[in-house]
Amino acid sequence: MKYILEYKEKELEQELKPSFRARQVYTWIFKKYVDKFEDMKNLPKELKTELSAKYSFTKMEIKKKEKSEDGCIKYLFELEDGHTIEAVLLLMKKKKEDENGKIIKSEQYTFCLSSQIGCKVGCAFCLTAKSGFVRNLRSSEIVAQVIKIKKDNNINEDKAVNIVYMGMGEPLDNFDNLIRAIEILSEENGLSISTRRQTISTSGISSKIKKLGEKNLGVQLAISLHAVDDELRSKLIPMNKAYNISTIIQAVKDFPKDMRKGIMFEYLVMKDLNDGLDSAKKLLSLLNGIKAKVNLIYFNPHIGANFQRPTRENMLKFQKYLNDRGLICTIRSSKGLDISAACGQLKEKEKNEYN
Ligand code: SAH
Ligand code: SF4
Repeated sequence: MKYILEYKEKELEQELKPSFRARQVYTWIFKKYVDKFEDMKNLPKELKTELSAKYSFTKMEIKKKEKSEDGCIKYLFELEDGHTIEAVLLLMKKKKEDENGKIIKSEQYTFCLSSQIGCKVGCAFCLTAKSGFVRNLRSSEIVAQVIKIKKDNNINEDKAVNIVYMGMGEPLDNFDNLIRAIEILSEENGLSISTRRQTISTSGISSKIKKLGEKNLGVQLAISLHAVDDELRSKLIPMNKAYNISTIIQAVKDFPKDMRKGIMFEYLVMKDLNDGLDSAKKLLSLLNGIKAKVNLIYFNPHIGANFQRPTRENMLKFQKYLNDRGLICTIRSSKGLDISAACGQLKEKEKNEYN
Protein backbone atom coordinates (compact mmCIF):
# COMPACT_ATOMS: atom_id res chain seq x y z
CA MET A 1 0.00 0.00 0.00
CA LYS A 2 1.28 3.43 -0.91
CA TYR A 3 0.64 6.62 0.99
CA ILE A 4 -1.30 9.08 -1.13
CA LEU A 5 0.12 12.06 0.78
CA GLU A 6 3.59 11.16 -0.48
CA TYR A 7 2.78 11.98 -4.08
CA LYS A 8 3.57 15.12 -6.01
CA GLU A 9 0.86 15.95 -8.54
CA LYS A 10 3.04 14.99 -11.50
CA GLU A 11 3.80 11.61 -9.97
CA LEU A 12 0.13 10.94 -9.38
CA GLU A 13 -0.61 11.86 -12.99
CA GLN A 14 1.72 9.05 -14.03
CA GLU A 15 -0.37 6.53 -12.09
CA LEU A 16 -3.92 7.70 -12.75
CA LYS A 17 -5.74 7.45 -16.03
CA PRO A 18 -6.91 9.85 -17.39
CA SER A 19 -4.31 12.08 -15.80
CA PHE A 20 -6.70 14.93 -14.95
CA ARG A 21 -7.96 12.70 -12.15
CA ALA A 22 -4.76 13.54 -10.28
CA ARG A 23 -5.81 17.19 -10.04
CA GLN A 24 -9.23 16.18 -8.75
CA VAL A 25 -7.79 13.92 -6.09
CA TYR A 26 -5.29 16.62 -5.16
CA THR A 27 -8.09 19.17 -4.74
CA TRP A 28 -10.09 16.89 -2.47
CA ILE A 29 -7.11 16.13 -0.29
CA PHE A 30 -5.32 19.44 -0.06
CA LYS A 31 -8.10 21.98 -0.51
CA LYS A 32 -11.10 20.25 0.97
CA TYR A 33 -9.16 18.16 3.51
CA VAL A 34 -11.07 15.00 2.63
CA ASP A 35 -9.43 11.82 3.92
CA LYS A 36 -11.50 9.06 2.34
CA PHE A 37 -11.58 8.21 -1.35
CA GLU A 38 -15.29 7.34 -1.13
CA ASP A 39 -16.04 10.97 -0.19
CA MET A 40 -14.51 12.31 -3.40
CA LYS A 41 -17.84 12.95 -5.05
CA ASN A 42 -16.82 13.73 -8.62
CA LEU A 43 -14.84 10.51 -9.11
CA PRO A 44 -16.40 7.45 -10.75
CA LYS A 45 -17.24 4.60 -8.39
CA GLU A 46 -14.73 2.17 -9.96
CA LEU A 47 -11.94 4.67 -9.58
CA LYS A 48 -12.78 5.25 -5.93
CA THR A 49 -12.62 1.50 -5.33
CA GLU A 50 -9.34 1.25 -7.21
CA LEU A 51 -7.81 4.15 -5.28
CA SER A 52 -8.90 2.69 -1.94
CA ALA A 53 -7.27 -0.60 -2.82
CA LYS A 54 -4.03 0.98 -3.94
CA TYR A 55 -3.40 3.94 -1.66
CA SER A 56 -3.89 4.70 1.97
CA PHE A 57 -4.20 7.88 3.97
CA THR A 58 -1.80 8.62 6.79
CA LYS A 59 -3.08 8.33 10.32
CA MET A 60 -2.81 11.56 12.31
CA GLU A 61 -5.30 11.33 15.13
CA ILE A 62 -5.78 14.13 17.64
CA LYS A 63 -5.06 12.53 21.00
CA LYS A 64 -4.87 15.74 22.97
CA LYS A 65 -5.35 19.41 22.29
CA GLU A 66 -4.43 22.38 24.48
CA LYS A 67 -5.14 26.03 23.95
CA SER A 68 -2.80 28.58 25.51
CA GLU A 69 -3.93 32.00 26.75
CA ASP A 70 -2.82 33.74 23.59
CA GLY A 71 -4.81 31.41 21.38
CA CYS A 72 -2.06 29.03 20.28
CA ILE A 73 -3.11 25.42 20.04
CA LYS A 74 -0.84 22.49 20.85
CA TYR A 75 -1.69 19.11 19.42
CA LEU A 76 -0.61 15.67 20.41
CA PHE A 77 -1.10 13.37 17.44
CA GLU A 78 -1.18 9.60 17.42
CA LEU A 79 0.42 7.85 14.46
CA GLU A 80 -0.25 4.53 12.80
CA ASP A 81 2.16 2.63 15.06
CA GLY A 82 0.76 4.19 18.25
CA HIS A 83 3.62 6.63 18.78
CA THR A 84 2.81 10.27 19.44
CA ILE A 85 4.20 13.57 18.18
CA GLU A 86 3.47 17.21 18.82
CA ALA A 87 2.56 20.06 16.52
CA VAL A 88 1.46 23.60 17.31
CA LEU A 89 -0.71 26.19 15.63
CA LEU A 90 0.61 29.65 16.43
CA LEU A 91 -1.57 32.68 15.94
CA MET A 92 -0.04 36.07 15.56
CA LYS A 93 -1.99 39.24 15.08
CA LYS A 94 -0.43 41.53 12.54
CA LYS A 95 -1.31 45.14 12.01
CA LYS A 96 -1.37 46.30 8.44
CA GLU A 97 -2.47 49.46 6.69
CA ASP A 98 -5.07 49.14 3.95
CA GLU A 99 -5.06 51.29 0.81
CA ASN A 100 -6.77 54.16 2.68
CA GLY A 101 -4.23 54.14 5.45
CA LYS A 102 -6.65 52.49 7.86
CA ILE A 103 -5.06 50.03 10.30
CA ILE A 104 -6.41 46.55 9.82
CA LYS A 105 -5.59 43.56 11.94
CA SER A 106 -4.93 40.31 10.22
CA GLU A 107 -4.16 36.93 11.66
CA GLN A 108 -1.00 35.16 10.72
CA TYR A 109 -0.92 31.39 11.10
CA THR A 110 2.28 29.52 11.73
CA PHE A 111 2.42 25.75 12.02
CA CYS A 112 5.19 24.27 14.11
CA LEU A 113 5.79 20.71 12.91
CA SER A 114 7.64 17.64 14.15
CA SER A 115 10.08 15.84 11.89
CA GLN A 116 10.99 12.79 13.98
CA ILE A 117 9.67 10.75 16.90
CA GLY A 118 12.28 11.67 19.50
CA CYS A 119 15.69 12.94 18.48
CA LYS A 120 19.25 11.61 18.26
CA VAL A 121 21.01 14.87 18.94
CA GLY A 122 20.50 14.72 22.70
CA CYS A 123 20.64 18.38 23.75
CA ALA A 124 21.01 18.77 27.50
CA PHE A 125 18.17 21.29 27.81
CA CYS A 126 15.60 19.56 25.61
CA LEU A 127 12.79 17.33 26.74
CA THR A 128 12.49 15.56 23.39
CA ALA A 129 16.07 14.37 23.84
CA LYS A 130 15.10 12.60 27.06
CA SER A 131 12.84 10.14 25.31
CA GLY A 132 15.61 9.11 22.93
CA PHE A 133 15.12 8.44 19.25
CA VAL A 134 12.33 6.22 17.94
CA ARG A 135 12.12 6.80 14.19
CA ASN A 136 11.99 9.29 11.37
CA LEU A 137 8.61 10.58 10.29
CA ARG A 138 7.50 9.65 6.80
CA SER A 139 7.00 12.61 4.48
CA SER A 140 3.26 11.90 4.59
CA GLU A 141 3.33 12.19 8.38
CA ILE A 142 4.88 15.64 8.08
CA VAL A 143 2.31 16.71 5.47
CA ALA A 144 -0.60 15.20 7.44
CA GLN A 145 0.14 17.43 10.45
CA VAL A 146 -0.62 20.47 8.29
CA ILE A 147 -3.81 19.08 6.79
CA LYS A 148 -5.12 17.98 10.17
CA ILE A 149 -4.50 21.38 11.79
CA LYS A 150 -6.01 23.23 8.83
CA LYS A 151 -9.08 21.04 8.90
CA ASP A 152 -9.50 21.23 12.67
CA ASN A 153 -9.45 25.03 12.58
CA ASN A 154 -11.31 25.54 9.31
CA ILE A 155 -8.37 27.38 7.87
CA ASN A 156 -9.37 28.30 4.39
CA GLU A 157 -7.34 27.01 1.44
CA ASP A 158 -6.56 30.59 0.36
CA LYS A 159 -5.12 31.63 3.69
CA ALA A 160 -1.33 31.92 3.53
CA VAL A 161 0.34 30.02 6.33
CA ASN A 162 3.93 29.65 7.51
CA ILE A 163 5.66 26.46 8.48
CA VAL A 164 8.47 26.10 11.01
CA TYR A 165 10.16 22.76 11.56
CA MET A 166 10.66 23.38 15.25
CA GLY A 167 8.65 20.62 16.83
CA MET A 168 10.14 17.33 17.88
CA GLY A 169 13.22 16.03 16.13
CA GLU A 170 16.12 17.29 14.08
CA PRO A 171 14.74 17.97 10.60
CA LEU A 172 18.07 17.68 8.79
CA ASP A 173 18.58 14.24 10.31
CA ASN A 174 15.52 13.13 8.33
CA PHE A 175 16.75 14.82 5.19
CA ASP A 176 15.05 13.01 2.30
CA ASN A 177 11.63 12.79 3.92
CA LEU A 178 11.84 16.42 4.97
CA ILE A 179 12.69 17.58 1.45
CA ARG A 180 9.83 15.56 -0.02
CA ALA A 181 7.41 17.00 2.55
CA ILE A 182 8.57 20.55 1.81
CA GLU A 183 8.02 19.96 -1.90
CA ILE A 184 4.59 18.42 -1.44
CA LEU A 185 3.50 21.23 0.87
CA SER A 186 4.57 23.74 -1.75
CA GLU A 187 2.75 22.04 -4.66
CA GLU A 188 0.82 24.73 -6.50
CA ASN A 189 -2.43 22.80 -6.77
CA GLY A 190 -2.08 21.38 -3.30
CA LEU A 191 -1.51 23.33 -0.09
CA SER A 192 0.62 25.78 -2.03
CA ILE A 193 2.83 26.82 0.90
CA SER A 194 5.77 28.45 -0.79
CA THR A 195 9.22 27.24 0.26
CA ARG A 196 9.98 30.85 1.28
CA ARG A 197 7.33 30.44 3.96
CA GLN A 198 8.96 27.30 5.34
CA THR A 199 11.72 27.53 7.94
CA ILE A 200 14.00 24.67 8.89
CA SER A 201 15.38 24.94 12.41
CA THR A 202 18.53 22.90 12.91
CA SER A 203 20.88 22.20 15.76
CA GLY A 204 23.64 22.70 13.21
CA ILE A 205 24.57 19.60 11.19
CA SER A 206 26.99 21.53 8.98
CA SER A 207 27.28 18.84 6.30
CA LYS A 208 23.51 18.74 5.89
CA ILE A 209 23.24 22.54 5.80
CA LYS A 210 25.65 22.38 2.88
CA LYS A 211 23.57 19.66 1.19
CA LEU A 212 20.41 21.71 1.73
CA GLY A 213 22.07 24.75 0.19
CA GLU A 214 22.94 22.73 -2.91
CA LYS A 215 19.25 21.89 -3.38
CA ASN A 216 18.46 25.58 -3.68
CA LEU A 217 14.87 25.15 -2.56
CA GLY A 218 14.39 28.68 -1.29
CA VAL A 219 13.62 27.58 2.26
CA GLN A 220 14.52 29.71 5.25
CA LEU A 221 17.12 28.55 7.71
CA ALA A 222 17.21 28.93 11.49
CA ILE A 223 20.28 27.83 13.41
CA SER A 224 19.97 26.80 17.05
CA LEU A 225 23.27 28.28 18.16
CA HIS A 226 22.68 28.78 21.91
CA ALA A 227 26.35 29.24 22.81
CA VAL A 228 29.25 31.29 21.50
CA ASP A 229 32.13 29.04 22.48
CA ASP A 230 32.66 25.39 21.66
CA GLU A 231 33.26 24.34 25.24
CA LEU A 232 29.80 25.36 26.42
CA ARG A 233 28.10 24.42 23.15
CA SER A 234 29.50 20.88 23.30
CA LYS A 235 28.08 20.53 26.80
CA LEU A 236 24.67 21.67 25.64
CA ILE A 237 24.65 19.99 22.23
CA PRO A 238 26.98 16.95 22.18
CA MET A 239 26.99 16.94 18.37
CA ASN A 240 29.00 20.15 18.51
CA LYS A 241 32.12 18.02 18.92
CA ALA A 242 31.64 16.78 15.37
CA TYR A 243 30.18 19.97 13.90
CA ASN A 244 31.60 22.86 15.86
CA ILE A 245 30.67 26.53 15.72
CA SER A 246 33.16 27.48 13.01
CA THR A 247 31.90 24.71 10.67
CA ILE A 248 28.34 25.96 11.19
CA ILE A 249 29.29 29.57 10.50
CA GLN A 250 31.13 28.46 7.36
CA ALA A 251 28.14 26.40 6.17
CA VAL A 252 25.86 29.38 6.67
CA LYS A 253 28.23 31.64 4.77
CA ASP A 254 28.23 29.17 1.87
CA PHE A 255 24.43 28.95 1.80
CA PRO A 256 23.21 30.26 -1.59
CA LYS A 257 23.01 34.06 -1.63
CA ASP A 258 19.35 34.46 -2.56
CA MET A 259 18.43 32.23 0.32
CA ARG A 260 20.66 34.02 2.72
CA LYS A 261 18.45 37.01 3.31
CA GLY A 262 18.35 36.96 7.01
CA ILE A 263 19.43 33.68 8.51
CA MET A 264 17.84 33.32 11.91
CA PHE A 265 20.10 32.43 14.82
CA GLU A 266 18.22 31.08 17.79
CA TYR A 267 19.84 31.66 21.13
CA LEU A 268 18.39 29.82 24.09
CA VAL A 269 19.21 31.89 27.14
CA MET A 270 20.00 30.17 30.42
CA LYS A 271 20.66 32.02 33.65
CA ASP A 272 24.35 32.49 34.55
CA LEU A 273 25.43 30.34 31.64
CA ASN A 274 25.15 32.37 28.46
CA ASP A 275 23.14 35.43 29.45
CA GLY A 276 25.95 37.94 30.02
CA LEU A 277 27.07 40.78 27.79
CA ASP A 278 30.40 39.01 27.23
CA SER A 279 28.38 36.37 25.33
CA ALA A 280 26.48 39.06 23.44
CA LYS A 281 29.79 40.60 22.41
CA LYS A 282 31.16 37.27 21.14
CA LEU A 283 27.90 36.59 19.31
CA LEU A 284 28.17 39.90 17.52
CA SER A 285 31.67 39.13 16.28
CA LEU A 286 30.75 35.56 15.32
CA LEU A 287 27.93 36.78 13.10
CA ASN A 288 29.96 39.57 11.58
CA GLY A 289 29.58 39.50 7.79
CA ILE A 290 26.45 37.34 7.82
CA LYS A 291 23.02 38.75 7.13
CA ALA A 292 21.66 37.46 10.40
CA LYS A 293 18.88 38.01 12.88
CA VAL A 294 18.98 36.79 16.44
CA ASN A 295 16.02 35.40 18.31
CA LEU A 296 16.48 35.13 22.06
CA ILE A 297 14.52 32.32 23.68
CA TYR A 298 13.80 32.09 27.38
CA PHE A 299 14.81 28.66 28.65
CA ASN A 300 11.56 26.91 29.47
CA PRO A 301 12.13 24.85 32.61
CA HIS A 302 10.89 21.28 32.88
CA ILE A 303 11.18 18.63 35.57
CA GLY A 304 14.72 17.33 35.83
CA ALA A 305 16.29 20.23 33.94
CA ASN A 306 19.53 21.59 35.35
CA PHE A 307 19.13 25.04 33.86
CA GLN A 308 17.29 28.15 34.89
CA ARG A 309 15.23 30.76 33.17
CA PRO A 310 17.12 34.05 32.73
CA THR A 311 15.84 37.32 34.19
CA ARG A 312 13.89 39.66 31.96
CA GLU A 313 16.41 42.36 32.75
CA ASN A 314 19.30 40.30 31.36
CA MET A 315 17.30 39.37 28.28
CA LEU A 316 16.59 43.04 27.57
CA LYS A 317 20.22 44.03 28.13
CA PHE A 318 21.41 41.27 25.79
CA GLN A 319 18.89 42.34 23.15
CA LYS A 320 19.78 46.02 23.46
CA TYR A 321 23.50 45.31 23.17
CA LEU A 322 22.96 43.64 19.79
CA ASN A 323 20.32 46.03 18.49
CA ASP A 324 22.46 49.05 19.37
CA ARG A 325 25.19 47.60 17.21
CA GLY A 326 23.01 46.96 14.20
CA LEU A 327 22.24 43.26 14.69
CA ILE A 328 18.47 42.76 14.71
CA CYS A 329 17.53 40.89 17.83
CA THR A 330 14.07 39.85 18.97
CA ILE A 331 12.85 38.07 22.07
CA ARG A 332 10.46 35.20 21.58
CA SER A 333 7.40 36.52 23.32
CA SER A 334 4.43 34.38 22.44
CA LYS A 335 3.41 32.01 25.20
CA GLY A 336 2.47 29.43 22.67
CA LEU A 337 5.87 29.66 21.08
CA ASP A 338 7.50 29.49 24.46
CA ILE A 339 5.68 26.29 25.27
CA SER A 340 6.13 24.77 21.86
CA ALA A 341 9.82 25.63 21.81
CA ALA A 342 10.26 23.36 24.73
CA CYS A 343 9.24 20.60 22.44
CA GLY A 344 8.31 17.33 24.02
CA GLN A 345 6.52 18.89 26.93
CA LEU A 346 2.97 18.06 25.91
CA LYS A 347 3.98 14.51 25.18
CA GLU A 348 5.72 14.23 28.54
CA LYS A 349 2.64 15.58 30.32
CA GLU A 350 0.45 13.02 28.63
CA LYS A 351 2.82 10.25 29.70
CA ASN A 352 2.76 11.43 33.32
CA GLU A 353 -1.00 11.56 33.35
CA TYR A 354 -1.30 8.04 32.07
CA ASN A 355 1.42 6.47 34.21
N1 SAH B 1 16.00 20.08 16.36
C1 SAH B 1 15.79 21.37 15.85
C2 SAH B 1 14.34 21.79 15.82
C3 SAH B 1 13.49 21.37 16.96
S1 SAH B 1 13.89 22.08 18.53
C4 SAH B 1 16.63 22.38 16.62
O1 SAH B 1 17.22 22.03 17.62
O2 SAH B 1 16.71 23.51 16.14
C5 SAH B 1 13.17 23.69 18.34
C6 SAH B 1 13.74 24.74 19.25
O3 SAH B 1 13.33 24.51 20.61
C7 SAH B 1 15.28 24.77 19.28
O4 SAH B 1 15.76 26.06 19.05
C8 SAH B 1 15.56 24.28 20.67
O5 SAH B 1 16.80 24.73 21.10
C9 SAH B 1 14.40 24.83 21.46
N2 SAH B 1 14.26 24.22 22.80
C10 SAH B 1 14.48 22.96 23.18
N3 SAH B 1 14.28 22.81 24.51
C11 SAH B 1 13.91 24.02 24.99
C12 SAH B 1 13.54 24.51 26.28
N4 SAH B 1 13.53 23.73 27.35
N5 SAH B 1 13.21 25.83 26.38
C13 SAH B 1 13.20 26.63 25.29
N6 SAH B 1 13.53 26.23 24.05
C14 SAH B 1 13.88 24.93 23.89
FE1 SF4 C 1 16.85 17.44 19.05
FE2 SF4 C 1 16.39 20.06 18.66
FE3 SF4 C 1 15.78 18.86 21.01
FE4 SF4 C 1 18.32 19.22 20.34
S1 SF4 C 1 16.80 20.84 20.71
S2 SF4 C 1 17.46 17.33 21.18
S3 SF4 C 1 18.25 18.90 18.15
S4 SF4 C 1 14.87 18.45 19.04
